[in-house]
Amino acid sequence: MAEETIFSKIIRHEIPSDIRYQDDDVTVFADISPKAKVHLLIVPNKVIPSVNEIEDGDAALIGKMILTAKKIAKEMGFAENGYRLIINCGKDGGQEVPHLHLHLLGGEKLRIIGAGF
Ligand code: 5GP
Repeated sequence: MAEETIFSKIIRHEIPSDIRYQDDDVTVFADISPKAKVHLLIVPNKVIPSVNEIEDGDAALIGKMILTAKKIAKEMGFAENGYRLIINCGKDGGQEVPHLHLHLLGGEKLRIIGAGF
């Protein structure tokens, strides 16, 4: 069983956070250190440490994370203008918290980062 992080405590409402959406599979909360006007984290409720540990049986769950991001962007009114979804993986990818999460950044024109992709 994968080790829990602070995100599991957020999912179980054991520590305060700005939860925007939750169901049996995923939880969405505001990033504590926002890098855009809107910066939310879409997190599976079960611990998957990183993309490297995703299994074939998780395919529907991973799809749901993306569909949830799409739904929230639409509900918040910035889907048409666009947004950015990011998953960092591992040390070189800049992943700080070893509980898979999809960053949803939007609500403004985002800076192009890195080589522009
Ligand atoms: P990573 O670098 O792992 O892709 O992203 C981790 C994100 O989690 C960072 O953007 C960081 O600001 C956010 N974060 C870390 N600890 C907490 C926390 O306790 N609460 C919330 N809401 N966000 C956190």
